[in-house]
Amino acid sequence: MKESNVDVLIIGAGPAGLMAANWFARTGTNYRIVDKRSSKIFAGQADGLQCRTLEVFQSFGFGDRALKEANHMLEISFWEPDGKGGLYRSARLPDSIPGISRFQQVVLHQGRIESWFLDAIRKWSGGKAKVERPVLPVRLEVDESKVEDPDAYPISVLLKTLDENEGTPEQFGAKIANGLFRSFEGDQEKYYKDAKNLANDDSLELVHAKYVMGCDGAHSWVRRQMGVEMEGESTDYVWGVLDSVPITDFPDIRNRCAIHSADSGSIMVIPREQGLVRLYIQLRETPRDPATKTESEMGKNEQKAIEKGRVDRSKITPEVILDNARKILSPYKLDITDIKWYTAYQIGQRVAPKFEKFERIFISGDACHTHSPKAGQGMNVSMMDTFNLAWKIAYVAKGLASREILKTYESERLGVAQALIAFDHKFSRLFSGKPALPGAIGNDGDGISLDEFHSFFAKGNEFASGTIVDYDDSVLIDKSAGKAVAQEIDKDVVLTISPLAKNISIGRRFDTAKVINQSDARPWYLTDCMLSDGRWRIVNFAGDFKQVPELSKKLNWLGEYLAGESSFIKKYTPPGAKVDSVIEVLTVHASKRVETEWDDFPLAFRPRDCAGRMDYWKIYVDDDSFHEGHGHAYEKYGIDREVGAYVVVRPDGYVSMVEPLGEEGIEKIAGFFGGFMIEQKVPPRTMFEEIETYGAD
Ligand code: FAD
Repeated sequence: MKESNVDVLIIGAGPAGLMAANWFARTGTNYRIVDKRSSKIFAGQADGLQCRTLEVFQSFGFGDRALKEANHMLEISFWEPDGKGGLYRSARLPDSIPGISRFQQVVLHQGRIESWFLDAIRKWSGGKAKVERPVLPVRLEVDESKVEDPDAYPISVLLKTLDENEGTPEQFGAKIANGLFRSFEGDQEKYYKDAKNLANDDSLELVHAKYVMGCDGAHSWVRRQMGVEMEGESTDYVWGVLDSVPITDFPDIRNRCAIHSADSGSIMVIPREQGLVRLYIQLRETPRDPATKTESEMGKNEQKAIEKGRVDRSKITPEVILDNARKILSPYKLDITDIKWYTAYQIGQRVAPKFEKFERIFISGDACHTHSPKAGQGMNVSMMDTFNLAWKIAYVAKGLASREILKTYESERLGVAQALIAFDHKFSRLFSGKPALPGAIGNDGDGISLDEFHSFFAKGNEFASGTIVDYDDSVLIDKSAGKAVAQEIDKDVVLTISPLAKNISIGRRFDTAKVINQSDARPWYLTDCMLSDGRWRIVNFAGDFKQVPELSKKLNWLGEYLAGESSFIKKYTPPGAKVDSVIEVLTVHASKRVETEWDDFPLAFRPRDCAGRMDYWKIYVDDDSFHEGHGHAYEKYGIDREVGAYVVVRPDGYVSMVEPLGEEGIEKIAGFFGGFMIEQKVPPRTMFEEIETYGAD
């Protein structure tokens, strides 16, 4: 049996695990990722990429792939019973709320999305990192005496390398790719039992890890090792999913549609890439199997949740799903060709009450929240979990930050998961419920109100976009300079806003605006100059410093401070590493570009590397461009050109604080970083490796 050490072991290479691996590859963090399956998925499963996810993909350099390869979903139509046995289109809405992000929702099968991650991981790691398959963890132990020692490897995981057959789950109805396969659950126990007799087995490896991330899906083995049970409930609603090319006279087949029939159930239409369409179809008649799993294989709550009986998935075929679809869509005709994938599931909403143990073992994605897939949230929220967590682990593993920051994973993401479950609970019931009839919109007598469904959908779209996640005050978010302000569209939503930047919510993601590069006049989305490479950013909105002498003084003061020995940025940057390799200062000023010269900025704002090369990508201006108009960034962020502000942005793009320009603001920011950063006294072990030039391919 082999034995080894690793800083982070990721278990599971679905969207959550791959996002984590991508972060670690990008930040040069020591990690491994294993998956029990012999290959990645090639069709089906999740398909919707929300606005915030696209922003994140862009920040890793592969947003353009999503935009090129995926279908862009722009409109949603609502169809309802017309009271005469037919259906009519009752409303149309934009699928993504206009202006909420520079991106709109796109759709593409999960396998392609996973392949972008695999390419990015290969690129960032110079080909060194890869998913180890088929590898199954069979035992996990923690030495509790060592969990507080940041240098210790307190977790031991016994890994078993399977052969190809063992790593390929048995498919039901195997001719067409589908999501109906035999679960691996229980295999760990068998292998561990065997392993005890096979101590010299070469297929076993004992890995000592500082951190373990359980990204192992809804039946998470890691979650069970943590002794955490999912909480929640299951419904009676059973849905089928079919990816195929439809042949139909239904006029809105290339739009997203929510269709409620009078009494045959509902369909969600998702137009996809390459002429495909995904249909989510409510199945009225399905075989049930009440004994899918034993109590020893799942916790009491989960057992309770399936008491009503799960659908017998092995008996679901594309024909069963199609028959149901035809009834709902009648009088429109529906045939299909090119079936790519199908599955069936029973709606349930469950969330784990704990996302971590000892701040050493973490669960993310489906391992800690499951719900129905129709709002396109599962994959997105799963990736956002590890997007939130992995950079924090990277900082701690590199000795840059204290373990304190790891507490913010659960405090930030559990709330998001609970909000998601509440959202999905209402959305699924409104979508699966029988509408009030006959054709009586707004009458919720016996059935659900379709009016309520429309307005819930419109409001829920903001949540679904992923852009309004708002992290609370913590060691990584300081809202003390902000005021609570009720949001204009939805008064229940309270934002924290500093009077210095009236349109920036502290705790939310830093939205983008177009600015111009001072040196070469090229327009940029500001966030494209703040890629996800592990660095913190202080955006120095220096204002119109050419016209306002007070601002010019503050700019010069900051330049001197940054160049001096007392700079907190220097304190937290390992000696020998580039001055901007942990915290980068970007300047966006509001004077006229053509009236401003490089020399107007102290050297600290345009540093040179050891070979004397100037960094021209640190100073921007809010001004007219030659070809793309004026971005009006100050107006967009609500910053006064004669006052300015510092905005501190985390490595994952969330706003930590907004502070006044000059000494007062910098003192506060230094105090903030002092709350969790570790003074660096020795050269870096592994730094955020070669920081790529902007607009990485
Ligand atoms: P997963 O994608 O489940 O990935 C978990 C990974 O961990 C897998 O690669 C698995 O092989 C591996 N793994 C599991 N256990 C172990 C272990 N013990 N050791 C090692 N590796 C392990 N969402 C939608 O939005 N629309 C859909 O139509 C849709 N359909 C789905 C159909 C199926 C059959 C499934 C399983 C999920 C579906 N989802 C759908 C949900 C969506 O795919 C998930 O929300 C998303 O994939 C969650 O990502 P994840 O990385 O957390 O988990």
